[in-house]
Amino acid sequence: MHQTNRNAKKYCNSLTEYSRFKTRVVNIGDIPCGGDYPIRIQSMTTTDTMDTKATVEQTIRMVESGCDYVRITAPSKLEAQNLDSIKKELRNRGYTVPLIADIHFTPNAAELAARIVEKVRVNPGNYADRKKFQTIEYTDTNYKAEIERIREKFTPLVKVCKEYGTAMRIGTNHGSLSDRIMSRYGDTPLGMVESALEFVRICEDMNYYDIVLSMKASNTQVMVQAYRLLIKMMEDEGMNYPLHLGVTEAGGGEDGRVKSALGIGTLLEDGLGDTIRVSLTEDPEYEAPVAISLVQRYKSRSGHKEIKPIEEEPKDPFNYERRHSFELSGFGGSNVPRVVADFSKRKMKNQTDLNDIGYFHNAETDKWNMNDLAADVLYLGSEDIPFDIPNGLKAVYDFDFWIKLENKSKGFPLMNVSQYLGSNQRSKELNFVVGNISSFTPDALDKIKQDKTVVMVLETSNVHGVAEQRRILFDLLLKKVENPVIVKRGYQNLNLDELRLYSSTDFGSLLIDGFGDGIWAEIKNISEDGKNSNEHAKKEYVRTFVQKHESKEKVINRTLFGILQAARVRISKTEYIACPSCGRTLFDLQDTTEMIRKRTEHLKGVKIAIMGCIVNGPGEMADADYGYVGSGVGKITLYKGKDIVRRNVPTENAVDSLINIIKEDGNWLEPN
Ligand code: SF4
Repeated sequence: MHQTNRNAKKYCNSLTEYSRFKTRVVNIGDIPCGGDYPIRIQSMTTTDTMDTKATVEQTIRMVESGCDYVRITAPSKLEAQNLDSIKKELRNRGYTVPLIADIHFTPNAAELAARIVEKVRVNPGNYADRKKFQTIEYTDTNYKAEIERIREKFTPLVKVCKEYGTAMRIGTNHGSLSDRIMSRYGDTPLGMVESALEFVRICEDMNYYDIVLSMKASNTQVMVQAYRLLIKMMEDEGMNYPLHLGVTEAGGGEDGRVKSALGIGTLLEDGLGDTIRVSLTEDPEYEAPVAISLVQRYKSRSGHKEIKPIEEEPKDPFNYERRHSFELSGFGGSNVPRVVADFSKRKMKNQTDLNDIGYFHNAETDKWNMNDLAADVLYLGSEDIPFDIPNGLKAVYDFDFWIKLENKSKGFPLMNVSQYLGSNQRSKELNFVVGNISSFTPDALDKIKQDKTVVMVLETSNVHGVAEQRRILFDLLLKKVENPVIVKRGYQNLNLDELRLYSSTDFGSLLIDGFGDGIWAEIKNISEDGKNSNEHAKKEYVRTFVQKHESKEKVINRTLFGILQAARVRISKTEYIACPSCGRTLFDLQDTTEMIRKRTEHLKGVKIAIMGCIVNGPGEMADADYGYVGSGVGKITLYKGKDIVRRNVPTENAVDSLINIIKEDGNWLEPN
């Protein structure tokens, strides 16, 4: 299997100074993509493409919610032809939105659609190949012959696109790589990039350059690495095509938003991305506002407070490797990243306050129970609490308050760098030292490095905070400072939806690179109402997913656990890999996902895919443990991994059958 070049690391303009990575401009109708044009927002319809009225009306709702482009599935020539009626009706109603035809497996539908709409999307994993999940040994000659076979199938489409001025997205999906690519590269980021570049090279041989590229995956680590590698390999080959960013099968609700923000936001932070689609298992008009909120942050990012450039990059951005730290009181080493609950602004009255962060006190037995979202650290600032906290939870107080405590062993001090350097008072076991890039001076780091009682808390006030925190984390690697590090970020004047998206981006960007032994969000003036401060996103489509009477501490605790799960560094719940649905979908994805979630959400760590159709679903379920896939009207086919275990089960029995399969496998637990 091919390896990436560990010395060739460049995948963006700069790791310390924000600027957009400049790509070529591709005209898509009258809304160009790439270059200095704004990052474009897009989404995909879920209606039956043959239902012109429903598709037109949904497209209009999507445009009203902020979409610059709208994608519509064209599974066969019939639907491809109907794009003409849809387009005409939209134009009649005054909507000039560029349309994109989504193609899988059907070159003849693609060639027809390319004469009608402004852009076609092809999946290089299935345009010329049908997947049989076979490993085939290719000699170089055989491999070349395969490329020639693809050229033959693909060339007619390129010709039509050239003739009609139609743009094309060559969109790789991690889950649907061809057997040929899988056999040679495995399901790796390199395989994903090669899969697209094989098609791009054919286009370039024909002098066709109106191309946009995407590297989607449901696994956020793979997705980020693939986009980075794509930039690197495009640069090596003198290409600069615009990037369409997205996380596939992200699911819906809070989890879908966290996962999308984490994957897409990590790339946006480094200036990558020319158009984005947030895929949610919800009506498509709810996707654009999320995408708009994500993009909004970078409109004024240039000109941020300067960060000293990085001279030596100590890690490989194309592979995941966790930063090595020593183990200290449950932090660092091989421990999962910890979650800090910030209760410094909350006056606590009794034990029930801790229900919000996963601890439940039984008054009769005076014992605590905890759930899978139980926080690890309780930051109390300069306030004490009138009851004993559970054993597993570590109380942390401000240093000045802690030194006055009669019983210092009830918690641990949080000191700033000057307090740490200037005083000998500290805990024998565990001290938290908080600072930023300026206060963690070389002298301070030398001292901390020798002190095996210190967990560093890294904060930032820089608007380009991920880059600043990454800068100091790189320094720690180079200086071999191995104390555990908690990454802390502060948020204010946002609504809860923005808080969820921005914290997912900020923590996720570092976690995905193997940084962070804990995460801590400090929040101030956060409004619960999504309609309050979200000026930029179309308000009626903003969702906050907050139940009445839920405290902000509860919401942020849930979000932090969600971020760790989405970054794949701490698993605390069942993972749902749900396709966003489209015109091929054979059942109500939102209701079905909800129904499956209700019955299985206690199965921590189990990955369940819920896919709307058997044409693309199985290929795109990525690394799910079980799959629930629509295989006909009222029929569901159930998978264990990539293998079919029950075929065409009637819908009414399908969830029970899925649970039986999980039971047979020994992965079932009875809910509490
Ligand atoms: S898996 Fe879902 S989104 Fe993908 S083609 Fe099938 S129904 Fe559409």
